Amino acid sequence: MDFQLTDQQRRMVAAVRDLAQSEFKTGARKYMDGTFPWDNMKKLAAIGVLGMSVPEAYGGLGLPVFDTALVLEEIAKTCYVTAMATLGEAGVQTRVIAKYAPESIRARILPKVVSGDCILAVCMTEPHAGTDVANYRTNATVKGDRVILNGCKTLISRAREAGMFVIFTRIDGRPGREGIGCVLLEPDTAGFEVTGTYHTMGGEDLHEIQFNGCELPIENLVIREDGFRKLLTAFNTQRCLNPSISLGLAEGAFDEARTYVKDRTVFGKAIGNFQGNRWKLAEMYREIEAARSILYRACMTANPFPDPLMAAIAKITCNEMALRVTSEAIQLHGGFGFTDEYAVSRLYRGARYGTLGGGTTETLRDLIGRRIMEAGESGEDLLAYDMLGGGDDAS
Ligand SMILES: Cc1cc2nc3c(=O)[nH]c(=O)nc-3n(C[C@H](O)[C@H](O)[C@H](O)COP(=O)(O)OP(=O)(O)OC[C@H]3O[C@@H](n4cnc5c(N)ncnc54)[C@H](O)[C@@H]3O)c2cc1C
Repeated sequence: MDFQLTDQQRRMVAAVRDLAQSEFKTGARKYMDGTFPWDNMKKLAAIGVLGMSVPEAYGGLGLPVFDTALVLEEIAKTCYVTAMATLGEAGVQTRVIAKYAPESIRARILPKVVSGDCILAVCMTEPHAGTDVANYRTNATVKGDRVILNGCKTLISRAREAGMFVIFTRIDGRPGREGIGCVLLEPDTAGFEVTGTYHTMGGEDLHEIQFNGCELPIENLVIREDGFRKLLTAFNTQRCLNPSISLGLAEGAFDEARTYVKDRTVFGKAIGNFQGNRWKLAEMYREIEAARSILYRACMTANPFPDPLMAAIAKITCNEMALRVTSEAIQLHGGFGFTDEYAVSRLYRGARYGTLGGGTTETLRDLIGRRIMEAGESGEDLLAYDMLGGGDDAS
């Protein structure tokens, strides 16, 4: 297994690192009030980053999962809100449009994603159905060449900025997971409304949105059936990208702590000179490196989608590691670490998101447990080193 970066990956990481460290880091605090980081997004668009998941035919870079994860990691070191906004353009919603939308929509929307002129929102969660997607009540009824959408989605990121909503919904009232499909909606559609806003501890706003008889052209019905399986396949990518943000947040907090322990003096010496604090730093670093290895390994299974088992393991490992590492970084800052003056409190708050989005840790532990039991039944050796295989496109 080769963990060396290619020259192209090194150049990309270096360009994003320079931008994030020189321009995103100092301004990160101003996005804690729900302000969308338009200025950062435009700078990322200028170096091609918003087109990471867009095929080259539409002006994007068409990068593999691993490269995308490396980029998100660099952004997250400095600004959680910008990393999340970038994930919105690189994640499942872009992949759904690129793979399932008709050419007319792809050609119109994808170049605007690349240029930062079309923010995408993905809508899965409903007030009574987050993890329990089989319980969706939002429904799209097909009537000739039109689709009528009714329902409500909640906790939706970027609903006030989005130019296109990728909405997972029941189709024609068909029950269960098999009855779920996907429609696209533009915000000027009659009957669409943003009806509520929640401000998060991470800094961004999430929204409730309603569809009251929204009439869509039939070409906006991009997945008619088996949408849940298709969603899950694409979601394994999200399960590598979400933890890359956790990894970056932990690395950012580690960097802050490493600097602080040199500068802060108590009892006549820098706090980094106390063995207990060095051990803290050693543990933080050890945890980061261990999690990073698992995440990179999961990313490398992508073909084009990562191995579901490895993606789940990587996600839990990075998400939970980031909680511990960012918390220890606050501890090393003492009481100042708890204030808004220092980046560590912001990084910690961002890290809290990881275990909640993109499949909660409980859901993923369930998935891992199920695979272990299935392997027991079939005699598959889960510990065999060569058992990993990335998922196909669920076409
Ligand atoms: C910052 C942020 C951004 C988000 N952005 C979006 C977005 O853009 N679009 C979108 O659609 N959603 C978004 N969400 C919502 C997110 O996807 C959901 O919060 C998530 O899917 C969990 O659903 P829920 O909140 O309804 O929790 P619930 O499903 O109600 O779960 C509550 C708790 O019960 C646990 N649980 C559930 N089922 C089981 C089980 N079978 N066994 C054991 N434990 C279980 C869960 O793990 C969790 O701990 C966002 C959330 C956050 C925090």
